[in-house]
Amino acid sequence: MNTIAPYGIHWFRRDLRLRGNPAFRWNTQQHQGRVLGFFCFDQKFLARSDFSTNRFQFFLETLSALKTEMREIGGDLLVLDVSPDEAFGKLLATLETHRLPRPQHVTFNRDYEPFARERDARMEKRFIDEWGIEVHHERDHLLIEPDELHKDGPSREGYQVYTPFAKKWFSLFRTPDLLARVRSPDEWPKIKLEITWEQLLSKPEVLPDFLDHYRENNAKKVTVRIPPAGSAAATKQIREFVKRIEAYEVARDFPDRRGTSGLSIYLKNGSTTVAEIIAELGLAADAKKGKPTSRLKFVQELVWREFYYHILARHPYVEKAPFLRIYDNMRWDEDEVRFKAWREGLTGFPIVDAGMRQLKTTGWMHNRVRMIVGSFLCKDLILNWQWGEQYFMEHLLDGDLAPNNGGWQWAASTGCDPQPYFRIFNPLLQGQKFDPDGAYVKKYVPELAHLPAKRIHDPSPAERRGYPEPIVNHNEQREIILERYRNCRDSK
Ligand SMILES: Cc1cc2nc3c(=O)[nH]c(=O)nc-3n(C[C@H](O)[C@H](O)[C@H](O)COP(=O)(O)OP(=O)(O)OC[C@H]3O[C@@H](n4cnc5c(N)ncnc54)[C@H](O)[C@@H]3O)c2cc1C
Repeated sequence: MNTIAPYGIHWFRRDLRLRGNPAFRWNTQQHQGRVLGFFCFDQKFLARSDFSTNRFQFFLETLSALKTEMREIGGDLLVLDVSPDEAFGKLLATLETHRLPRPQHVTFNRDYEPFARERDARMEKRFIDEWGIEVHHERDHLLIEPDELHKDGPSREGYQVYTPFAKKWFSLFRTPDLLARVRSPDEWPKIKLEITWEQLLSKPEVLPDFLDHYRENNAKKVTVRIPPAGSAAATKQIREFVKRIEAYEVARDFPDRRGTSGLSIYLKNGSTTVAEIIAELGLAADAKKGKPTSRLKFVQELVWREFYYHILARHPYVEKAPFLRIYDNMRWDEDEVRFKAWREGLTGFPIVDAGMRQLKTTGWMHNRVRMIVGSFLCKDLILNWQWGEQYFMEHLLDGDLAPNNGGWQWAASTGCDPQPYFRIFNPLLQGQKFDPDGAYVKKYVPELAHLPAKRIHDPSPAERRGYPEPIVNHNEQREIILERYRNCRDSK
């Protein structure tokens, strides 16, 4: 056996940064910086029906930024394109062939999606029982984990409604333990890494890295602008948002303004965390006081994200079914023609079409418009929310199971938080209220750009000039969908 000092491996997944990365830091402390970075993705993932080439590119760019970060401090990241069982199996077999020691520890940060939890439980068992490697994991992706936040009493039942959930979240937030989590990564001591894959394996070609191969090939298929990726880009985005946060409460609802933070893509991959955002923006005091301010409104949005993660972790069936099981047998229409018109932004409802075109051409859609197009799909077109959920995943750069599923179930009124089935967005009124100058519609629906603001959300047939007539009658569809919901409720 070659003499290599004990070392650790950090298995990256949704924590693609070094700044303030708790499990990575723990590993470096155990092994005096002798920690190697490891990432693997299963090729099966590329064949998923909701796979997005654009989101994959952003993710590959994030990995590339992480690799650079690791190299800058003396370490390295190895990326393999097989499942973790196969990747770690391959790695350990290579070590054995070259008479090299196994890592002493594998560390990772916890993930809460049903698939990830099952994977982590299986891998932890294999590391310990089969391979004799110690495992250490930490909280990172959420500020408060599902098993930390529950109703009082022995049942430790989770909340199913946002308002009491948020109340509890803020009450926990005021405890010293929670406040200690909110530290700027700049306060953490600098890390220096003392080992690379090349140093360990001598011949790196025995375990070739696949990152550049995928990054170059996938880049050829990208159809939207890919924003700057990685933890430095995320921190830059947070610091830029500081200048706008006081306006957030009002500006956040108007899709033509730059009113929101643009942080969702970075949160998704763990280029930043809620802890870092709260620390960087100095929001802890606001969250502690709980007084309504624009800054607090922003924290409340971060709490929505945690809420949906908790719901998914506690009720994993929501990934495939309505949270409210009374809607299991809801009768949705199966109209592919209407679905296509929605996808293409050709429904004849300007605010809906602008949103759908924004999604397709930029990979992002404003939250207000996500709610409008979601309501429109389910309640005006009477199409299954799961069709919309999947389409969003195919196109959103920030596509993320928990908030996407939560957002869609909210729009369809099948979810845990009350957006009662009888509350149906009127696309015309929503457009007039949240895009009063028509600037958003003009940007994405140029066919209507000749119209004055007053006419843009409800153009006459003559004013449409080739832009489609509305494909449904809102009031008629409203009656139909209300009856479908009522039938479901009455039959239970
Ligand atoms: C139908 C539908 C689908 C959605 N799909 C996704 C998705 O796939 N991925 C995703 O990250 N968000 C999703 N959202 C939530 C929200 O639209 C986005 O998080 C937000 O638009 C991202 O822009 P931002 O970072 O500038 O938001 P900001 O307004 O700046 O909010 C800050 C952060 O708070 C969180 N947040 C804000 N609003 C919500 C919300 N309603 N639910 C959960 N978290 C929220 C996000 O992490 C966001 O980055 C969806 C909402 C709806 C209605």
